[in-house]
Amino acid sequence: MTTEKQTDGGAENFGKCCEELKQVMSGEDFEPLITTGGDGILYMSVGLIDIEEDEPGMVDHPVFFCPFCGTKVQDPEKVRELFEDSDNA
Ligand SMILES: [Zn+2]
Repeated sequence: MTTEKQTDGGAENFGKCCEELKQVMSGEDFEPLITTGGDGILYMSVGLIDIEEDEPGMVDHPVFFCPFCGTKVQDPEKVRELFEDSDNA
């Protein structure tokens, strides 16, 4: 067990599995396309969408497995629960 202290972005909750994800989550040198939402769900931007004539918006999808090392980072059922909670709010 390591006892690293890092509290930027969602690096606390996600990014424990490997150095790659940890780097993306800390996003020091770039704007990461994998981010933690306000609901605590880890999202990956999968594309851009044109919203009317405004700036293009990002299309996000929840990530269940780390794209780098394949570790399960969140539970689909838990994510669905969080979704339903935020719908009701
Ligand atoms: Zn990983």
